[in-house]
Amino acid sequence: MSTALVVGLGRSGRAAAELLKRRGWDVIAVDGAPVAAPELTALSIDVRAPFAAPVAGVDLVIKSPGVPSAATPVAAARAAGVPIWSEIELAARELTNPLIAITGTNGKTTTTELTAHLIRASGQRAMACGNQGLPVTALVDGVDPDAWLVIECSSFQLEDIDTFHPRGAVLLNLTPDHLDRHGSMDAYRSAKLRVFAHLTGDDLAIAPRGMAIPGAAAARHLDLGPPGPGAIAWDDNGLVVDGLGRVMGWDDVPLPGRHNRQNTMAAAALAAHAGANAEHVALGLASFPGVPHRLERVGTANGVLFLNDSKATNPDAAMAALDAYDRGVHLIVGGRGKGTSFDPLAAVARLGVVCAYLIGEDGPEIGEALTRAGVATRPCGTLEHAVTAAFAAAVAGEVVLLAPACASFDQFSSFEDRGEAFRTAARAAGAV
Ligand code: ADP
Repeated sequence: MSTALVVGLGRSGRAAAELLKRRGWDVIAVDGAPVAAPELTALSIDVRAPFAAPVAGVDLVIKSPGVPSAATPVAAARAAGVPIWSEIELAARELTNPLIAITGTNGKTTTTELTAHLIRASGQRAMACGNQGLPVTALVDGVDPDAWLVIECSSFQLEDIDTFHPRGAVLLNLTPDHLDRHGSMDAYRSAKLRVFAHLTGDDLAIAPRGMAIPGAAAARHLDLGPPGPGAIAWDDNGLVVDGLGRVMGWDDVPLPGRHNRQNTMAAAALAAHAGANAEHVALGLASFPGVPHRLERVGTANGVLFLNDSKATNPDAAMAALDAYDRGVHLIVGGRGKGTSFDPLAAVARLGVVCAYLIGEDGPEIGEALTRAGVATRPCGTLEHAVTAAFAAAVAGEVVLLAPACASFDQFSSFEDRGEAFRTAARAAGAV
């Protein structure tokens, strides 16, 4: 019998361990932290946590996205020539479903959920899965084999693919993020570009203009203006998709902001590739409820709108939010930065931010950048203080926007947890 080592016991690692066990592997599952996994132990999986040593006699390693490639059990297996796959690679080998892959620095979850929604609007089955929370391996043996699986792929999952072949793939954008893990922008870009490596000439590859992509599919592009060569979707006072024609005006698309136009174009083009027509796409766009913690409207109090963009975990995402709401903004910003400069964000904040309320570990650093750009700031420490201060200062017609530009882990367990705290504070201020 063969032995598989699963490194990292998050949701996807656990689902991968269970699948391998079902397929008759001996499974050893390890995690650097002291996590409990009684459901795996009950399946006779050898769970070791905390554990950070080499494991001998292993034939396959499944590496979770949160695990650095230098982690001892992974590095030791690599040195021994053992294949190292991400959970997505494992799942794709086990599934016959048509697959679509979505990656990029920002916009992945929104585009993934929207693409699945638009394909469903065409009367076909489709599910969003992957990095957004539903492990792809959890679908193996259960999902209708005709259903389209729209997979959100992070760079950490793409780093360890081998034969993964979706029928359509998009790289939405690429700006500095996670460089602490990847080491350099080049390594980050290479990981993302692997999504295209196995596409054929019949598949749809969508990439930023000017970026050379691997694989046999010609790169198509999204244009936030008139169509250039190779455009698959573009803007003509509304959404136009190659092959579908004009779908609808932007005023009728509920998702706010220009960044969401890019996400919308990508999702519409991929859904069209999966067989949706213009009417399906228009109906799907009009009925898409949006994704929580992404420019989510929490409510209004005294005419002040509360917006939860807790998922804006890097400066670029926060800049997209400020592009969508460009005046009268009381911006709550800060948390744990990822080593990228806050000066570009500060330059954009100058245009529409009335005052920035600084929270968390890197609040002071962001405050310096904002002060240099001439933006008023107020140190608040916690999110609760920031909401109270922002609401007290805002007047009717203005916006209290949580777009932290940072990770949440200094004060919260996740961006969802931070978004919930914002909602609670906004509701306490009377937002309905
Ligand atoms: P991801 O899954 O890649 O983190 P999300 O859809 O969860 O992407 O959105 C994350 C944040 O990035 C949102 O809060 C939003 O403000 C911003 N964002 C979404 N789409 C884009 C885009 N196409 N370009 C820049 N920023 C975006």
